[in-house]
Amino acid sequence: MTPLEQLIRDRIRDHGAMPVSDYMALALAHPDYGYYRKADPLGRDGDFITAPEITQVFGEIIGLWCVVTWRQAGMPTPFHLVELGPGRGTLMADAMRAAGNDPDFIAAANLHLVETSPILRSRQQAQLQAHDATWHLAIDTVPDGPCLYIANEFFDALAIDQYFRTADGWHRRCVGLDPVTDRLKFVIDRTPINTEGLVPPSVAAAPAGSLFEHCPECPEITAIMGRRLASDGIAALIIDYGYWHQGSGETLQGVRGHQHHDVLMNLGDADLTAHVDFSALAATAETAGAIPFGPVLQGTFLSNLGIEARTNKLAADQDTTQANLLHSGCHRLIDPQGMGTLFKVLALTDGKLGVPAGFELLPGKLDHEA
Ligand code: SAH
Repeated sequence: MTPLEQLIRDRIRDHGAMPVSDYMALALAHPDYGYYRKADPLGRDGDFITAPEITQVFGEIIGLWCVVTWRQAGMPTPFHLVELGPGRGTLMADAMRAAGNDPDFIAAANLHLVETSPILRSRQQAQLQAHDATWHLAIDTVPDGPCLYIANEFFDALAIDQYFRTADGWHRRCVGLDPVTDRLKFVIDRTPINTEGLVPPSVAAAPAGSLFEHCPECPEITAIMGRRLASDGIAALIIDYGYWHQGSGETLQGVRGHQHHDVLMNLGDADLTAHVDFSALAATAETAGAIPFGPVLQGTFLSNLGIEARTNKLAADQDTTQANLLHSGCHRLIDPQGMGTLFKVLALTDGKLGVPAGFELLPGKLDHEA
């Protein structure tokens, strides 16, 4: 049993079953034993691999998107380039290298990295040594001024709550202890919750046995972004796996060694993640004064921005092994059978920007309505 499981079991014994969000927050972010606090989980040797770790072209394309968007906004100077959950700092390093073609952009950008993991923060510091950057534990300490926010696979790492529908209403799903086996197990809180403002009307009437997920932190963070965009300008780019108005259904999953893993096992040594509700992010940002675009499929977005041409150009100067790696990496990110459709891209703008690059959709038709 991991030390974190021992700690969670003790808490359940003392205080009763805990909501899924408390369980997930402890599993990911406990200061000593949390999954993201203890080790670097990324890359081929880790538990999962992200787009910037698959190919340098991903970060380069994001960097070019930032330059184009900043120019489209009238080159506000200075501005804050803010990345949420920067992992190993690879995306930002690749983005800044590509953006280096525009010295005005580089001169105007103040870098801010929002990261809670001390281990990943030191990897980011090593990776971004050439840049003057500031680290934050939360988004709200980024100083006033125009912002370009980037978040790749950040929102899926935030804790979610789960609600279960029974004959008498919606109940909070919790993690408790089985009195017979003494193992961790999911239990349903007895008292039905007030669904108002929490479970959308389209889901509230779902049949008994349905499950609804809600990330409390996601709307808080997008509201902060939305307010900042509305008051000080520019845009946000949010890339993640997720859905648009999925309704009910479970997406919480454990991941270890690139495989699905039991959510209740190896606490602190396995990742826990949930799909992102893009409709909820867009709605809160809009209420806060920003304009959402998309989501578009990651494959569409990256292809629109020329990932294949950039990959071909880069591969032309490489040996066969390197060239093949670049081509297979590009294919993996845009593959309609995989990451190309699983991942979505949502942009939030200040409303004055117009349509951001990569979001030029058919008039009147959004990708999620296609
Ligand atoms: N964007 C990176 C890493 C994704 S993994 C990439 O694409 O490779 C999720 C990242 O979010 C990690 O850096 C993790 O430490 C960070 N993170 C998780 N929860 C966080 C929180 N509440 N606040 C800030 N960073 C967080």
